[in-house]
Amino acid sequence: MFSLVFTRRYSMAHRLIADASSKCAIPHGHNEQVIARIQPVAPQRLDGDANMVAPFDRAKARWHRFIDDRVDHAFQLGERDPMIDWFRAHERERLSRLLVTPGDPTTEMLAACFMAKLNAFLAADGNGLHCVELTVEETPTNAVTLTGDPADVLPALGGGGWWVRADDSINDLAPS
Ligand SMILES: [Zn+2]
Repeated sequence: MFSLVFTRRYSMAHRLIADASSKCAIPHGHNEQVIARIQPVAPQRLDGDANMVAPFDRAKARWHRFIDDRVDHAFQLGERDPMIDWFRAHERERLSRLLVTPGDPTTEMLAACFMAKLNAFLAADGNGLHCVELTVEETPTNAVTLTGDPADVLPALGGGGWWVRADDSINDLAPS
C-alpha cells in the first residue's frame, strides 16, 4: 500500500486555561508543523504508464490551502474561554480567525481536529483516499501523533463540529 506524507508549517497562538496555574494560560505562540500520511482506501495498482496515485496532488493542494489560509496565524482557544466573548464584544470581524476546540486547544486536540478535517475534505472529494496518521509538532522536541479514527478520541459531542465539515471553517461561532 502506498502512502504519501504531506508536511506543512504554520504559526499559531493559543492558551490553555484548564490548569489555571500553568504558564500556558497566558496567550503565546509556536511555529508548528502538521504531517499527514494519506493512503488509498483500497490498494491501487500503478498503471504502467504515469505510475502515480493520481488524487494525491489534489488532496495535498486542498489541505495546504486550508492550513495556509485558515490555520496559519489563527488564535486557538477552548470553547469556554472568555477571550471569545472579548472578541465578540470588541473585534467581531476577527471571530473567523479564532480556531475553537471543545476544551483546551492542546496538541492532542489539534491533531484529532486536523485529522477529522482532512478526512472530511478527502471524503467530499470522493478520491478514494484517507488519512491514516497525523502528527502535530508543537516544537522540534514535542510532537503528538494520532492513528486510527479521530472520532474515537474526540470528546463525545452531538454531531461534532467544524472539524467534520469539508469547508474552511475553524469554529462554530455565529458569524459576525
Ligand atoms: Zn503553547
